[in-house]
Amino acid sequence: MQFIETRGNDTLKPISVPFSKAILSPSASFGGLYVPESLPRLDDAFLLAHKESSYRDIAFDFLKLCDIDIPYDVIDEALKRYELFDDANDPVPMKKIEDDCYVSELYHGPTRAFKDMALQPFGYILSYLAKKHDQKYLIMAATSGDTGPATLETFKDAPNVIVGCLYPDGGTSDVQRLQMITESADNLHVFGVKGDFDDTQNALKSLLASDEFNSAIASKEIKLSAANSVNFGRIIFQIIYHIYSYIRLIKEGQIKLGEKIYLVVPSGNFGNALGAYYAKKMGVYIEKILISSNQNNILTDWINKGEYDLTSRDLIQTISPAMDILKSSNVERILYDKFGSKRTKELMDDLAKKGSYALTDEELTLLREDFDASYSTDDECITMMAKYAKKGYIMDPHTATCIKSYEKLRDKKATAVIYSTAEWTKFSPVVAKALGGDFSRDLEAIDFIKEKTGLKPNNTIKSLFNKQIIHNKIIQKENIKKEMLSIL
Ligand SMILES: *Cc1c(COP(=O)(O)O)cnc(C)c1O
Repeated sequence: MQFIETRGNDTLKPISVPFSKAILSPSASFGGLYVPESLPRLDDAFLLAHKESSYRDIAFDFLKLCDIDIPYDVIDEALKRYELFDDANDPVPMKKIEDDCYVSELYHGPTRAFKDMALQPFGYILSYLAKKHDQKYLIMAATSGDTGPATLETFKDAPNVIVGCLYPDGGTSDVQRLQMITESADNLHVFGVKGDFDDTQNALKSLLASDEFNSAIASKEIKLSAANSVNFGRIIFQIIYHIYSYIRLIKEGQIKLGEKIYLVVPSGNFGNALGAYYAKKMGVYIEKILISSNQNNILTDWINKGEYDLTSRDLIQTISPAMDILKSSNVERILYDKFGSKRTKELMDDLAKKGSYALTDEELTLLREDFDASYSTDDECITMMAKYAKKGYIMDPHTATCIKSYEKLRDKKATAVIYSTAEWTKFSPVVAKALGGDFSRDLEAIDFIKEKTGLKPNNTIKSLFNKQIIHNKIIQKENIKKEMLSIL
């Protein structure tokens, strides 16, 4: 698998690069992204042959088909990271919540949110490459809550990798904050930033653009890379569980090979949904991918009207903060795949200059062949969480945005798989609210939910509240550069 660029080639960068290059230096010509030049085909024989396979075996055979420049024994080690999940043979358990609806739980990894699915094996591979090239890499992350813990967890004590992680002080849940500030390893550096997530992200952007910072890291012979979902090293691992969902439904006797299903994806940066799109393109029988958003419903407008318009919007804080996103990065990869690099560059230039772009009617029709979309308000999410709690299924507020899409958007009678992206323990005050409780702190909310439902938090969550705090720096955003320079 070779990688090419969504906005075309500027003649300064190579025309195509191997997987290792695309993940070590993920920025492509004209500010674009790397995408695979071609995708392997997952035919019926592949799907049938894996009916009894473990997740690991499906993943391994899929990655073999992708033909990436990573040795098989390294891929094998990377996939061993799923042994850190509750059940290595079935890291993404599926629960039936309606006759024609399953929930695939992507949160059974070490940080209890779906970011582990990709960041765990990706972290292993990135650190392997860094070691192989005898090169030190700095990974900078700004997080609204789930990416930070998952990035720190995957890179803790990783050779040749240093992590700098910035979170908005007061802008995350207690559990998310504790997961970051109690993570101890010499190569991890965590800072709370005064302000909200936007402030944090903008501070990181200006740090990365600063000459002083870049010459400081160059003089130390450190290179910069990124672990956010623009990195294809994450996307490749987010294709696998969609294939697995389909195979599991066959195994359950819910569907026959060739029968189409709906995938319902709670979306922010569109990495999860992009993985579903690639799985569909490769041959998994998917009727449509139903995108679910919260009130930051820019993706709903994009898919329903063909408009991507930032000018009329301000970011709204919702109870599903991991989806409080307006500039959804992986949308660009869909634009490229559907309309080519010339048009993608045109649309992305419009977005940068005017803050908006519009697809033509023909383009919108093409987009809607694969996607449909809806959004839920916070109140609607709470109602859905309460409804399913009564039936005995507890879901987090991100997952809850999917119920409306499942109920309203299917125009065929086909089975749906909803992706659950976080465990209830990560957003416990909201989950408690759906169960009739009112708590501002996670610890009390968790106890309340435990009492009400009999669910028990995982040990890693419970122990967080007694763990020693390692990273206690809260800084002004003006001081990020100084702090980062001092750790280098
Ligand atoms: C990151 C995240 C999402 C959004 O996923 P994308 O791949 O960015 O669309 C949804 N829910 C939770 C809990 C997340 O952490």
